[in-house]
Amino acid sequence: DTQDGGVRPSRRHADLGPDFYDVVAPARFPKTVLRYRNRAWAERVGLGSLSEAEWIAHFGRFEPLPGSFPEPLALRYHGHQFRSYNPDLGDGRGFLFAQAYDLRDGRLLDFGTKGSGTTPWSRMGDGRLTLKGGVREVLATAMLEALGVDTSKTFSLIETGEALERGDEPSPTRSSVLVRLSHGHIRIGSFQRCLALNRPDLTQRLLDHTIDTHMPALAAERVEARAEGFLAEVVRRVARTGAQIMAAGFVHGVLNSDNINVTGESFDYGPWRFLPRFDPGFTAAYFDTGGLYSFARQPEALFWNLARLADCLVPLCPQERLGAALEGYGPALQDGFAQALFRRLGLAPAPQEATDRLVAAFWRFHTEARPPFERVFFDWYGGRASEARAARSPLAEAYASEAFAPVRAGFAEVEAADAGRLAHPYFAGEAPCTMLIDEVEAIWAPIADCDDWSLFEGKLAAIARMAEAFGTTPEGLEIAA
Ligand code: AMP
Ligand code: MG
Ligand code: MG
Repeated sequence: DTQDGGVRPSRRHADLGPDFYDVVAPARFPKTVLRYRNRAWAERVGLGSLSEAEWIAHFGRFEPLPGSFPEPLALRYHGHQFRSYNPDLGDGRGFLFAQAYDLRDGRLLDFGTKGSGTTPWSRMGDGRLTLKGGVREVLATAMLEALGVDTSKTFSLIETGEALERGDEPSPTRSSVLVRLSHGHIRIGSFQRCLALNRPDLTQRLLDHTIDTHMPALAAERVEARAEGFLAEVVRRVARTGAQIMAAGFVHGVLNSDNINVTGESFDYGPWRFLPRFDPGFTAAYFDTGGLYSFARQPEALFWNLARLADCLVPLCPQERLGAALEGYGPALQDGFAQALFRRLGLAPAPQEATDRLVAAFWRFHTEARPPFERVFFDWYGGRASEARAARSPLAEAYASEAFAPVRAGFAEVEAADAGRLAHPYFAGEAPCTMLIDEVEAIWAPIADCDDWSLFEGKLAAIARMAEAFGTTPEGLEIAA
């Protein structure tokens, strides 16, 4: 049913039944000041014409979206956190507020919250989100979207006027409530919960729901083939996204099984970082003392989580078939990585062998020279055609070294294969490119323990310019000061 503004609401998640969620009430906040709204995605879900007051009523006070849930749903899930199983997870500071269809591609989107109050799953937590935490999620999603990563989108950020104690500086700190758009919030941990409860009927129901909602191509399959096909699809999607985040130089920080969406979309950004310079061991979360989720171990971490999803499907499908589905991971990761790297380098697809040689040479150069990560993409966008620009880079010496020769040879081979370049306005001129790299590198510096809105504003503005240059989210990044 289409509403006036074109929004196509849904309450599909409720079809899963009350075994999968708890109906909850949002927190009431002392104030609601709009800090960020995503105009581009508001248009895509038919909410582009909301006034500021209407926006705040829905996404700060959580007045129901007509046609979706009358009350929010805190979703139930378990998960492995740093490889230990925790059955006490679940939406502890968020809920599923609403669902609606993307008017462009017809896929169903969740409006999920962060910082919207306590739930039965809050444990010792306050159910709140700091403003700086909210801004960090805006920055991560905007940047990843601009870099071509399949990520959730930040839809709204509203400052909520509470003073939060977080045991860091400054204390107390400001509060916010965030709304994200994602293709479902069905996590590997949602399936793990069904297994832990020893309820194959719930696993089957969740599987059927996920396929019908997010993977219609599998809908005609029968029981065992559904489970196997589902796992193979999750494996492909998670591998592709994993490859994209590696090519983006992104370190998620907390790749726990409750933070892995079965649609493969990357989400839930807390202590993330982008690589300042190439470093396989670079770790984002201060509490990740063993480096489990360090940059280069992310593909392995994702695979470990996929193996846990396979465990959950054992009651529905012979183990050999699940094992075969898991084996798709390596090839999908490799393909996805080549694709993502070529996209970032502005190169059109090339034959397999030339592609593999360039990818290997590019990565080997990084391992040896450990350059500033983003700089190399700026310098070599378009391959050898950028030679003159690269020669003026601070990295010119590294490019003249033997370590870089195989990369140059790789560019030549790809060009000889008639692959050609992808035109991109970002790199059309030199001056804007140089200006942007400085800004972009500044965005990656961690947000200091700082409550200064103007600092956040500066970072958001830099990402907005970058996104515009990339042509990804032209009006999506509106900053409300
Ligand atoms: P995360 O590390 O953000 O994925 O969160 C892990 C779990 O802790 C989830 O169940 C969250 O809902 C919960 N959680 C995180 N922060 C809070 C908080 N401030 N209050 C209540 N629950 C929280
Ligand atoms: Mg989480
Ligand atoms: Mg979190």
